[in-house]
Amino acid sequence: MDHFDVLIVGAGHAGAQAAIMLRQLKFEGTIGMIGDEPEPPYERPPLSKDYMAGEKEFERILIRPAAFWGERAVTMQLGQRVAEVDAAAHKVITTDGTEYGYGKLIWAAGGTPRILTCAGATAQGVHAIRRRSDVDAIMARLSEIENVVIIGGGYIGLEAAAVLSKLGKKVVLLEALDRVLARVAGPQLSAFYEAEHRAHGVDLRTGAKMDCIEETDGRATGVRMADGSVLPADLVIVGIGIVPEVGPLIAAGASGGNGVDVDGFCRTSLPDIYAVGDCAAHSNKFVGGQTIRLESVQNANDQAKLAVQHILGEQVTEYDALPWFWSNQYDLKLQTVGLSTGHDQTILRGDTANRSFSVVYLKGGKLIAIDCVNAVKDYAQGRAHVVAGSKLDLAQLADSAIPLKEVGLA
Ligand code: FAD
Repeated sequence: MDHFDVLIVGAGHAGAQAAIMLRQLKFEGTIGMIGDEPEPPYERPPLSKDYMAGEKEFERILIRPAAFWGERAVTMQLGQRVAEVDAAAHKVITTDGTEYGYGKLIWAAGGTPRILTCAGATAQGVHAIRRRSDVDAIMARLSEIENVVIIGGGYIGLEAAAVLSKLGKKVVLLEALDRVLARVAGPQLSAFYEAEHRAHGVDLRTGAKMDCIEETDGRATGVRMADGSVLPADLVIVGIGIVPEVGPLIAAGASGGNGVDVDGFCRTSLPDIYAVGDCAAHSNKFVGGQTIRLESVQNANDQAKLAVQHILGEQVTEYDALPWFWSNQYDLKLQTVGLSTGHDQTILRGDTANRSFSVVYLKGGKLIAIDCVNAVKDYAQGRAHVVAGSKLDLAQLADSAIPLKEVGLA
């Protein structure tokens, strides 16, 4: 049985960052990384942005050049999936029965796209966007695709709508709730993006109730709505969230449910097993210590760094990294900082009509998050306010002529 001092499961953002950090901090032990995709670690955000648009080749979205891992003595086991964790014996077992021993295990397995439960959900032509192979399968058929239905008005669905409508496809986007981005942003931002997509020709429908996916000979042909109408579709993209990949850990006795529970240093309840990234349910100080999972590159990287520092016995404080995120749609660059969950007031800086503005989220008068659309300065200057939970003068805050860093306290 191969044995690694540190074994990383998942060769995505968090797994890659963990290995990079171990070597950066001069760790001289053995490192193994098991990933079930065939590719070395790559960036996932471009999958619904410039990689999908054909503007970036795959080699340009690799997190490190393919040769990097060998040069840093990181043993890659790609195309292998861990099926079982034996925490007492300190080993994992892959689906083909291969066993790997570990000193410390870093679980960085991300999540799997949630699938529809209706008829037709697994028909050909129905895709999620999580892996390179998903996008390659979509793009290989691009020339035969005319009608696209996207189910889900989160960031991934909206980004795919932007790319595919720009590529000349007829795009319908269905959101079951009464606005897009409902889970992550306030109504002002939702309304702005809905209007933008409609202006770009996307048939965006909120409160949309679908019934099933229609298929002929196993291939999707349309989406049947609850009212019986059918939207023609050669391609159906489902972007309704992920299910965290934690089955083997939970089966091994780790505490968790929606993700695996970790403490302030990313330790699971199992000895010598850490979990980082999309799959890690952690207490986050930016939502008052509530247990949440964050699905972002920031969180994947910051948790991976923290877990590694803890493993190496460095002096670290409990996880308190500032959440940030971005989304590119058309010529709109959205940058968000903080978490707007639980806000009780919003202030608009700038004019949505100019397509450059920020929505500031407050809770009990404290600034907790900012969504900045084509407003890089607000993003850069707002970060410190989110960290501090500043209570600012509201009239000045609403005046976009006053730079955020010069807005006075309330
Ligand atoms: P992943 O990157 O998903 O890596 C997990 C890896 O583990 C995968 O390769 C998976 O196949 C593998 N794996 C799973 N189970 C096993 C197993 N049992 N054995 C072996 N391997 C396994 N975030 C942003 O901050 N900004 C964005 O603009 C943004 N855009 C996105 C666009 C898309 C299309 C997607 C899909 C995500 C986007 N995200 C974005 C989210 C971001 O990519 C994720 O938060 C990040 O990838 C999480 O990293 P991770 O390492 O936890 O998981």
